[in-house]
Amino acid sequence: MSTRNRIAAVRERLGALDGLIVTSLPNVRYLTGFTGSNAIVLITRRRATLFTDPRYTIQAGDETADSGVQAMTVRRRLEHAVVRRLKGLGKAGFEAGSIGYASWELLAKAGKLEPVRGLVEALRTVKSEDEIAAIRESVATSSQAFAAALGRFRAGMTERELAAEIDYQMRLAGAEKPAFETIVAFQANSALPHARPGEAKIDRNGLFLVDMGSFRGGYASDMTRCVHLGTPAAKTRKLYNAVLEAQLAAIDAVRPGVKAGSVDKIARQTLEKHGLHKAFVHSTGHGLGLEIHETPRIGKGDKTPLAAGMAITIEPGAYLQGQGGVRIEDTVLVTPTGVEVLTPTSKQLTIL
Ligand code: ZN
Ligand code: ZN
Repeated sequence: MSTRNRIAAVRERLGALDGLIVTSLPNVRYLTGFTGSNAIVLITRRRATLFTDPRYTIQAGDETADSGVQAMTVRRRLEHAVVRRLKGLGKAGFEAGSIGYASWELLAKAGKLEPVRGLVEALRTVKSEDEIAAIRESVATSSQAFAAALGRFRAGMTERELAAEIDYQMRLAGAEKPAFETIVAFQANSALPHARPGEAKIDRNGLFLVDMGSFRGGYASDMTRCVHLGTPAAKTRKLYNAVLEAQLAAIDAVRPGVKAGSVDKIARQTLEKHGLHKAFVHSTGHGLGLEIHETPRIGKGDKTPLAAGMAITIEPGAYLQGQGGVRIEDTVLVTPTGVEVLTPTSKQLTIL
């Protein structure tokens, strides 16, 4: 979908509103192509305007050239210019989920504002061919960097050193930047689903978990793999195989029309069979794209029906305090007939 079509799609969804104030930067990028760090977009029935500051005058002109959006440079806070434009307009929506209080206070001077939630985000869930191509590149970049970093792994490296090596390899492989803070967690640390890599040395028999992603063309991917230093104990193998079984079962359930919550349920039921349901403390996955976490959430009770073109993760895990955790995560694409696993990295437990 071109940016023109995206703006048209927003207009179709305005309902009783006369305009929408877009303050979420990923939404700004989606609707206009603008990638700078300071912008507000106002979409009305007749016009679409991007407000930014003088640092971005040239860039905004270039990036929005084909979007049908008029770029305007503002020399003070952007909200003032938006408020001026809102005069004479009826009721405008603002993005309740992505606005600061100070910004809202300024915009509220225009009166007649109404909170809007998830309007542009809903459009973003189904990806275009170009977006899918960018996600494929991101997935390939991460997998290549993971292999390169493991090739440089030496026993005795700290979690932080390995995370730095992974980030470096992602950049070398063409990533704009990591899609989030790379996680490397060794042994007991791997029981923390969002561990921060620290000074722990990876120097003895044990498992470490790597969760990483890269941005390519503005699009994210997400992958988690576990690696074992030395021969794994039987209980570690058991834990790993149970999570893998849950991950494969959940992937198998992905197809258009299936509710996101049903995919989550299948992962949960599989882990329950192994007595691990209480050890699975997060959702099975999430949408991704311009942001690492997007709708839909592949979580308990989520009724969003999956649709062809959605890019989501499938990442069940089991975390045992004191022992460690296992998570296996792929980026997958919902296709017209089912699912395509985009992440090419093997899911065999890698042993170093
Ligand atoms: Zn994820
Ligand atoms: Zn992840």
